[in-house]
Amino acid sequence: MSKSYLNLIAGKWCEGDNEIENRNPSDVADLIGLYTQATSDQLSTTLNRAKQAQIEWATYGLERKQSVLNSIGTELMARSLELGTLLSREEGKPVAEGKGEVYRAGQFFTYYAAECLRQLGENADSVRDGIEIDVRREPVGVVAVISPWNFPTATASWKIAPALCYGNAVVWKPANLTPASAVALTEIIAKQDIPEGLFSLVMGSGSTIGQQLVESADVDAITFTGSVPVGKQIAAAAIENLTKVQMEMGSKNALVVMDDADVDLAVTVAAGGAFGGTGQKCTASSRLIIHDSISDVFTEKLIAAAKALKVGHALEEGTQIGPVVSEQQLQENLDYVAVGLKEGADLVCGGDRLELSHEGYYMSPGIFMNTRNEMRINREEMFAPLASIINVDSYDEALSVVNDTQFGLTSGIVTKSLARATHFRRNARTGVVTVNLPTAGTDYHVPFGGRGDSSYGPREQGRSAAEFYTTVKTAYISAGQA
Ligand code: NAP
Ligand code: MG
Repeated sequence: MSKSYLNLIAGKWCEGDNEIENRNPSDVADLIGLYTQATSDQLSTTLNRAKQAQIEWATYGLERKQSVLNSIGTELMARSLELGTLLSREEGKPVAEGKGEVYRAGQFFTYYAAECLRQLGENADSVRDGIEIDVRREPVGVVAVISPWNFPTATASWKIAPALCYGNAVVWKPANLTPASAVALTEIIAKQDIPEGLFSLVMGSGSTIGQQLVESADVDAITFTGSVPVGKQIAAAAIENLTKVQMEMGSKNALVVMDDADVDLAVTVAAGGAFGGTGQKCTASSRLIIHDSISDVFTEKLIAAAKALKVGHALEEGTQIGPVVSEQQLQENLDYVAVGLKEGADLVCGGDRLELSHEGYYMSPGIFMNTRNEMRINREEMFAPLASIINVDSYDEALSVVNDTQFGLTSGIVTKSLARATHFRRNARTGVVTVNLPTAGTDYHVPFGGRGDSSYGPREQGRSAAEFYTTVKTAYISAGQA
């Protein structure tokens, strides 16, 4: 018998009306557990309770809030191997990455624990005689958090930690593909000294409970990370109630390798950025924009690096690339391989389904050569271990290809030229730019987000998060004498 896991509704663990199976993408015979699905009544109950709990939480002193966040963060870090292994088992990334993700999630909580004490306002004199002005940030209220499966613990944490830090209640709808990580984080949060119902977990599908959550007039703000089509649906629902919304979505990140680059560094940066996390990162380097003069040597070394990557069971030692998250995602990836071939790109390695000793969703890292930026494989987010090489013969052409996209999350350049690196940093139209570093891999104390279709609303992470999780109040105070 598999264990059943529950939702946290108004502070109580509750069964919903049905359950879904959570299976290991590295070995589909491995059933991780059964996860209950929240009902719409439970959603209403928990939203009502959250409203009261938020008012109570806002009255907690800063040290009390700080200590709650510290305790969550410390436990995540201390248990990063155990919880990272669970994450890897359900999502498919190698354990080192799963562990690193849970540790990073802990750092988001300890960072925002410290931010609890750094919430300062502003004062000003009025333009009128005898009046003072006090400007401060207040919580927005009840925040709906909707998170994806690819970084199930980190993405949720970089939303939940600032939401709590700035005095809000949270109702969390995680991705149904990764419910085990969601339950584990919720268990840690639920045992803290917080008002009952301040934090809720509502597992269920996006199209049912997710849609009901974003349509609810009891939600004051929605933070979403996921795909562009779902983001557009959420924004449309949010606008009906004029609910504050922040969204981080897909991308089609470009890495430029210039003629003066250190080729070995460029190959390491490109292979890590393109294939790390099985290419299932919103920051993945999926367009490799390579200067003609070094293209042959770069491509040869990149193919060798891709072929050397060990694809295998996420929990097995030595695995560098785990499986794709699901059968559906694998089918979509294979469809993109077919699209690329039909468009005239040359597949120079990988891009195949792999049959290993366990039945799972394995795919070999694939590289397309001789591609053009107009091709669908260079315009649409594939979320696959696939990279395309686009050749250019100048820096100016490289920059214009980088910026010729509907997205704008990250971009990078590998070069030894300070002048080019500086120009690129200033002119690439993305929210994050990297120089001689992969396009994936960011810190937690500075803003994260993109331009174009990649993001909507204020930036996440670091101090920028205050913009979304608070609302500004301007108070005018007179001494009250006539
Ligand atoms: P997704 O299909 O858009 O789903 C994201 C979340 O939204 C899931 O929890 C999903 O629930 C839920 N959802 C789906 N339909 C909904 C609806 N109508 N109303 C409310 N919620 C709904 O994305 P995904 O496949 O999980 O994740 C991959 C995508 O995330 C990629 O596009 C990737 O680029 C993006 N991503 C972006 C960032 C970033 O910071 N920019 C980071 C990581 C990932 P269910 O899946 O349970 O149905
Ligand atoms: Mg999806």
